[in-house]
Amino acid sequence: MKIILASPRGFCAGVNMAIETLDLSLQRFGAPVYVYHEIVHNRYVVERFRKQGAVFVDRLDEVPEGARLLFSAHGISPEIRAQAAARKLKAIDATCPLVTKVHLEALRFAKQGYTILLIGHSGHDEVVGTMGEAPDAFVLVESPEDVDRLEFSAGAKLAYLTQTTLSVDDANRIIARLKERFPQIVGPPKEDICYATQNRQEAVRAWAPQADVVLVLGSQNSSNSQRLAELAAECGVRAHLIDGPDDLDPAWFHGDETVLITAGASAPESVVEACVELLRGRFNATVESRTVREEDVYFPLPRELRVVAK
Ligand code: SF4
Repeated sequence: MKIILASPRGFCAGVNMAIETLDLSLQRFGAPVYVYHEIVHNRYVVERFRKQGAVFVDRLDEVPEGARLLFSAHGISPEIRAQAAARKLKAIDATCPLVTKVHLEALRFAKQGYTILLIGHSGHDEVVGTMGEAPDAFVLVESPEDVDRLEFSAGAKLAYLTQTTLSVDDANRIIARLKERFPQIVGPPKEDICYATQNRQEAVRAWAPQADVVLVLGSQNSSNSQRLAELAAECGVRAHLIDGPDDLDPAWFHGDETVLITAGASAPESVVEACVELLRGRFNATVESRTVREEDVYFPLPRELRVVAK
């Protein structure tokens, strides 16, 4: 067996920042630290923090008044921010700056009177937060067929934005259809799909065709991880999205395969290493690391923690 270990893979700058924020919050303030939604969409990460005293909630009335609350990497709507203030919660905002960028674009378009077509997945935390910036201005679009069903008068003021973790190819197809139907539509100055999502997809696109099996480390509710598995499948390769070594079924392999391994932006490197070790032990696998592009992006900690550090 030969393993191709794809790079970049795993944690992005936004996830690193969010995890460091929760680590530091637990160290400085002690447990419990409440977190609105999962800090990042990864079972291993969430379980580790749960054991250390993080309490993940989906509603703010589950948080005692005055407690410390962390907003996850996916961002929140102004309504949640206001609810937190009303409950006098000590909020720490670990929203990824690349998600905040989309929120600011949404506000700008809404202020200028645009109807905003948000390309994204219904119910995803990031989508809920972004649409909450201007609920009346947004229409969610999930597919080219959704675009075909839209009805606007000729010359309507339209803009589009996208979720940060989409498939680049799917988003481009939807944007092309939007431009075809509504030539007046405007978009963001710089595209919203983030560098980490793009780079991880580029690596899979480059090497999946040389593999017999693709393993994507990531949780089922991780949008960018799911897109990696879909992309591999589109390349005609068997793809498995797994949380970690416990989900890896040796029956998937004969032992002579080339296996491409990658990881979504919220999957820790430890689960990649554990899977590589398992395949090494079981199938005598050799490992070749390949890098499609270097990443050196870093996001500073939230203001609230920087102030405490003084
Ligand atoms: S995947 Fe992209 S948008 Fe999401 S946290 Fe990472 S860098 Fe930020």
